[in-house]
Amino acid sequence: MRRSLLPGATALAGVLIAGGAAIRSLHHSPERSFKRAQDALNQDRIIETLMEGTDHETAAYEVTGSKEGPTAVILGGMHGNEINGYQAAADITNWGIDAGRLIVIPLANSVAIERNSRRGPNGDLNRLFPSERTPESTLARAIWRVIEDAAPDVVIDLHRSRGLFNTHQRWIGQVILRTETDGTADTANDVVEYMNDRYVPRSMRFHRFTTTSIHDIDRGSGLLVQKVHHDMGVPGFLVELTDFLLDLNTQLRWTTALTERLLEQYGIQRAV
Ligand SMILES: [Zn+2]
Repeated sequence: MRRSLLPGATALAGVLIAGGAAIRSLHHSPERSFKRAQDALNQDRIIETLMEGTDHETAAYEVTGSKEGPTAVILGGMHGNEINGYQAAADITNWGIDAGRLIVIPLANSVAIERNSRRGPNGDLNRLFPSERTPESTLARAIWRVIEDAAPDVVIDLHRSRGLFNTHQRWIGQVILRTETDGTADTANDVVEYMNDRYVPRSMRFHRFTTTSIHDIDRGSGLLVQKVHHDMGVPGFLVELTDFLLDLNTQLRWTTALTERLLEQYGIQRAV
């Protein structure tokens, strides 16, 4: 279990809510998180190094099942301060699956991750994928090429917000944003129901998951999953946890469980 050990800032570094269901650490250590994610990566499964020799260097990983099956692409760290997403994706590089394959880019925006900032040198990476046009940075183009080569059946992009979709107007936490591709509404509804039944305690009703289609909130702004939908006709899901009164370990556990369930819906079962 990870502990925050910043000098002099431990004792009161949490807000206890809901009878101990969740503690929010106010002192994430980004450096430790980055290192922990890097240590988790399964180096034997690298299939390609993107942006080799540059600050943006990062790898794509492949997890294959013993049987033929669908392909899923999973991205983490598009926003560098969303630790749950890149840690979950890094852990996934070690999974076993029964069939099909996963192509994982866990540390998509490695420069932003190192800085623990949402944006990288070229701005917000998840705004650089305009539909039906060329992605707007070298890194975005490299990521897009990996996705095109993978010819995926589904793309899952892991994120974290500051608030709650149902409560705060500005923020979109605890929501599965889905593209308007066929079948995504039923799939997302299933996953939402599953997460709320199995993971979100009754006492945390504000943290119940929900889903909405990206069309409803997208301002035509170059989201990767939207491009996947428009250019490839492939379903995309942007998963947003929250760090509003939710500790990192819980965010991570829920991100992982949600991804697992989503993959199951597309015929990829995690082998335990
Ligand atoms: Zn994000």
